[in-house]
Order: sequence, then structure tokens, then C-alpha cells
Amino acid sequence: MAKRKRPKERSPLPRALFFDEAADRARSCGSKDAYPSEQHARATAAMNGMADALNVYRCRYCEFWHLTRRREEYID
Ligand SMILES: [Zn+2]
Repeated sequence: MAKRKRPKERSPLPRALFFDEAADRARSCGSKDAYPSEQHARATAAMNGMADALNVYRCRYCEFWHLTRRREEYID
């Protein structure tokens, strides 16, 4: 059986589809306060008069909840 040249190693996905986890983590988790529950996060937003301006989301990294400005981030 003839030896075949190995194809050059290539990433299976175009670069644009790479998910930069470190950057995402810093943006969506590391720089934010974490709350133990959705209720805590919403209550904090309300106390700051930001209930209408902030979204609450469950963090995929720390499993806590964070607040984010609406329109700033798109969550799933
Ligand atoms: Zn987090």
C-alpha cells in the first residue's frame, strides 16, 4: 500500500468560529460581581435603580449569577 502524504495539520474550524474562552470568561465573569441566586442579582439591580437597565444571567463559569447591561452582551 502506497504511503500517502499526511495532510498538513489544519484546524477543523475557520478562525472566526473559535471561541475565545479566556476573553469571554473575563468579560462575562471575572469582572463582575457574583450573586448566589437570580433573586439576589435582581434585588441588587433593583436596589441600585437598575432593574430596567440590567439583565441577570447564570454564569457558565462560576455557576453564580451576574448582572449585565442590556444590549452590552448577548446571552445564548
Ligand atoms: Zn461567573
